[in-house]
Amino acid sequence: MAFQNKWSLPLGSCLFGIPVRLHFTFLVLLAIQSLTAIPAGKWWVLLWFLALGPVLLATILIHELGHCLAARSVGGTAESILLWPLGGLAFIHHNASPKADMWVAVAGPLTHIPMIGIWLAASLATTKAAYGRAFVTMSVPYPEGAQLGVALSSVAIIMNISLLLFNLLVPAYPLDGGRILVDALLACGVAPPTAAKVTLGVAVPLAVGILIYGAVQVQVTTILISAFIFWACWQLFDCLRKGVLDQHPLFSFTASQQQQQQQQQQQQQQQWAAAEAGQPAGGYPAAGYPAGGGTGRAPAF
Ligand SMILES: [Zn+2]
Repeated sequence: MAFQNKWSLPLGSCLFGIPVRLHFTFLVLLAIQSLTAIPAGKWWVLLWFLALGPVLLATILIHELGHCLAARSVGGTAESILLWPLGGLAFIHHNASPKADMWVAVAGPLTHIPMIGIWLAASLATTKAAYGRAFVTMSVPYPEGAQLGVALSSVAIIMNISLLLFNLLVPAYPLDGGRILVDALLACGVAPPTAAKVTLGVAVPLAVGILIYGAVQVQVTTILISAFIFWACWQLFDCLRKGVLDQHPLFSFTASQQQQQQQQQQQQQQQWAAAEAGQPAGGYPAAGYPAGGGTGRAPAF
């Protein structure tokens, strides 16, 4: 819990009993974006405060809840959610297969589809109120008076479409697309070390591209995302070179599977020994996952 608690504020528990924390960098981003909008006028400040405050917070929370509820649906647990400007982190644990982990990874981005539907409906309602005619728009008008609702709906639609496509289509671990890539490789029978090398081979060039794009466009958040990918790739590379890939959250399910197989073998040997000695074969621990052995398939981005 140390990482979750560092530099973050507790927001209480959400509907599903999962503690939610807010990283202080979220407030820094909100302040910077709102302050830089001051020269454009108070309505722009209000728009960016609403869009990057309550709307972005709710969007990220629902995305992370998607990961958490999917983890629970495959028999896992959801420890907490940390909301931060780079997309939020869901701290989840499960012992399930790569296929099940793929569902957990996909469940976050999928939440953007109903959210896009809600914001399209909001766009219809706000354009009707502002212009007397209902239509969907993604252009952001000057957000004064009734046009504030139109502008906010447009920003929210763009935000949700971007998060859906970015998370699903950019296969750079630890983004959701990267998790989907490694899960697909493992589900197809690719050996974990090979899957790790492919993951690094895809994620590192993408991180370089994201870094260059962020630098050219002077987007601090984009540069930080590339730094986050580099950091996650280093963690994976470190486990690979030390030969301890089963200690990495992406591959720790292999250790769980090995333990399960060993337990089953031990139980079988004990049953055979008991049968040979003419003893009843009961009383041995049932085969299963080790007690408390939640593999650390966390955090989900
Ligand atoms: Zn996600």
